[in-house]
Formats: sequence, structure tokens, C-alpha cells
Amino acid sequence: MSRACDAIGCTCATASGRFMCRKHWFMVPADLQRVINTRYRACRKDFGFLSDSEYLKACTAAIQGIAKAEGKPAADDSYARLLRGVETRAARLSTGSQ
Ligand SMILES: [Zn+2]
Repeated sequence: MSRACDAIGCTCATASGRFMCRKHWFMVPADLQRVINTRYRACRKDFGFLSDSEYLKACTAAIQGIAKAEGKPAADDSYARLLRGVETRAARLSTGSQ
């Protein structure tokens, strides 16, 4: 199964489980690469990384950083949307428990 690279405007096919095509992955700063890889492996089970704020923050930072470097207009990405959902749920939980 293959999927498309997550960089904005990129249609390159990437292997399943790969965040971006080679070209774009190498544009991601090393510290973000590390967070993405570590959190992805740690939360792989049941797609837990899709609700892991650390993972989602690193992904959206990587996507937005590449878009900026390539001069693409700022656009929303799916990780930013997921992150907002996670943060909204977390805020609701912390206020709901009072
Ligand atoms: Zn790409």
C-alpha cells in the first residue's frame, strides 16, 4: 500500500508508514525527524499517533516549515486539524473533571 507525501502540493508516492517522500523528508530538521520517528513507533498500535499531540505538533511544524522554504502559501494540513481536535478534547477533559 502506498500513500502520497504529506508535504503541501507534493503528489509523490511514499511507502506506507512513511511521512514524506525522500526529497521532503530530508528538508525536515533533524530534531523534528527524531520526534516524528520516535512518537510514530511508540504510538503505532491502534493508530495512537493520530491523537498524540507531540507527534502531530512535529508533523505540522515539518509541513509548514517545508511550505515556507518552498514559498508555498500557508495552508491548513491534516495534522494541524487533528492537533486542534486533540487539544480541544484535552481542554474539555481538564475543565470537565472539576
Ligand atoms: Zn514530497
